[in-house]
Amino acid sequence: MRPSNDNSRETDPGQDWYAHVEEVLARHSDELDRLSETAAKAKDSGSRPAINWRALNEPDAALQLAVLSTWVHWFVGRYTLRSLVPPCWALHAPMIEELSALAAAWRGAYESPDVAAEAGLGWHEHLEMWRARWPNWNLDNCNVNVHRATADVDWPNVGYPNDHQFPSRGAP
Ligand SMILES: [Zn+2]
Repeated sequence: MRPSNDNSRETDPGQDWYAHVEEVLARHSDELDRLSETAAKAKDSGSRPAINWRALNEPDAALQLAVLSTWVHWFVGRYTLRSLVPPCWALHAPMIEELSALAAAWRGAYESPDVAAEAGLGWHEHLEMWRARWPNWNLDNCNVNVHRATADVDWPNVGYPNDHQFPSRGAP
């Protein structure tokens, strides 16, 4: 009979399997602790990339949009930007992308534990650039009173020539 530290498993036909699993878990215990600590730190810190909206399915996008809305609400109030950011911003994809990138940079500057002291200043420099760029993305001149849906145009898929070769210009 094999020696065992756990008498309750002596008659268990899966004893070898349990022993193996326990051995593997013990072997990787430190590594698991380290990974879980890193994951918790990343979750709590602001060092996450901007949201890749393209990769999200509809429910996840809706969830992220709700989270972003909370930040935008704070942001426009804090910086008195209600006349600049129309309340319909979430109905305009370019505005979602711009605000989402700005929010990610803000998290990185203000919520990362290991961030440099001047990160807030860096974020404000980006905010200045964002302000200059922002009106370009308010394509329909929406404002606090008016929302205009962006009219899209048909963009037919014309395909590309084979072998990624474009026809030479000026060819007869
Ligand atoms: Zn609008």
